Amino acid sequence: MVSNALVLFSGGQDSTACLAWALNRFNRVETLGFDYGQRHHVELECRQNVIAQIRQQFPQWDKKLGQDHLLDLGLLGQISDCALTSETEIQFAQSGLPNTFVPGRNLLFLTFAATLAYRRNLGVLVTGVCETDYSGYPDCRSNTMQALQLALNLGMEQQFRIETPLMWLDKAQTWQLASDLGGLALLDITREDSHTCYLGERNRRFDWGYGCGTCPACELRAKGYETFMETQQGEAG
Ligand code: ZN
Repeated sequence: MVSNALVLFSGGQDSTACLAWALNRFNRVETLGFDYGQRHHVELECRQNVIAQIRQQFPQWDKKLGQDHLLDLGLLGQISDCALTSETEIQFAQSGLPNTFVPGRNLLFLTFAATLAYRRNLGVLVTGVCETDYSGYPDCRSNTMQALQLALNLGMEQQFRIETPLMWLDKAQTWQLASDLGGLALLDITREDSHTCYLGERNRRFDWGYGCGTCPACELRAKGYETFMETQQGEAG
């Protein structure tokens, strides 16, 4: 039974839920983030804050939570001109994909994760990819993940398992997952410290957290939160 995991952790809502999911399930959990010239280093700061808060508020998880790794993938900025790495507007390309899209980004992320996991002796790779909300991203799909798992295992002669706890959840269900795993404390950490906004806005606070409120990531997060809260109130009443 494999019990050690590496969580791809960006400090966003999704990967925060994934981190809690892994801490709830595995004996040892390490985290991996990528610095690829995001316009806003707030993301990297937020991921540190989320980790610190989880350590502080969940002593049972603190014991399992091992090293945090940060890999410099600045070369991604060289090969993809997109809204996350340059100052261009967020708009949709002709293909229907947002131009925040970095082609095949998750293939690269998971391959680097597997390389690190190999050296750290971690058997499970946990990623927050999801088909439900971002069906336009082909590198987030379940089929892609299955094929990649096979390729990694053949190419490294390992038996890695890629786990995607959010694959079939919508954003409201991701809020629910955080609530189920870590109750109010984890909801608070998600609202206060996790970051999703494409524009890196941390000055405006909404009931779902910080952000500009209008970029696609903020809209999705806000809508999911609203639905989640309605469900909560429905259950309470
Ligand atoms: Zn935003």
